[in-house]
Amino acid sequence: MVVHDLSRVESLLTPRSRLALARKIRDMARQHSQLAISFATLATDHAALQDKHACLFERHSLLAHRVYAGELCLDDDALCIGCHTCETARTYWPCGHSVFCDACDELADAHDCPLCRRPILHRAKNLKKSPRPWTA
Ligand SMILES: [Zn+2]
Ligand SMILES: [Zn+2]
Repeated sequence: MVVHDLSRVESLLTPRSRLALARKIRDMARQHSQLAISFATLATDHAALQDKHACLFERHSLLAHRVYAGELCLDDDALCIGCHTCETARTYWPCGHSVFCDACDELADAHDCPLCRRPILHRAKNLKKSPRPWTA
């Protein structure tokens, strides 16, 4: 039997099933308002995280730019891991590690950073020693 008329459906319900239905609707309404509250909380959290992400993104691109330019490296005062005598002279981008002096870097001709294995997309000549930004 297919019933299209809602008022006719209602007339078919027994008082008992009417009560059960009302109870079900009330439960679902309660669930719905609980979900609405969780959703609002999540939306607030999400907005806060988005703000944080924007800040970090800006900071990261600033630091990445300085790594690219050779102004910043992760191993500022390190000795070359090739000859153990010279200071490191080149910084890999994007990882920011500096492991070799000029001569050893040319000799090694690495495509990936020996420290972190990330591909080397650019070699920056270390311009100056800079304080570590995360300890400042
Ligand atoms: Zn060296
Ligand atoms: Zn690296």
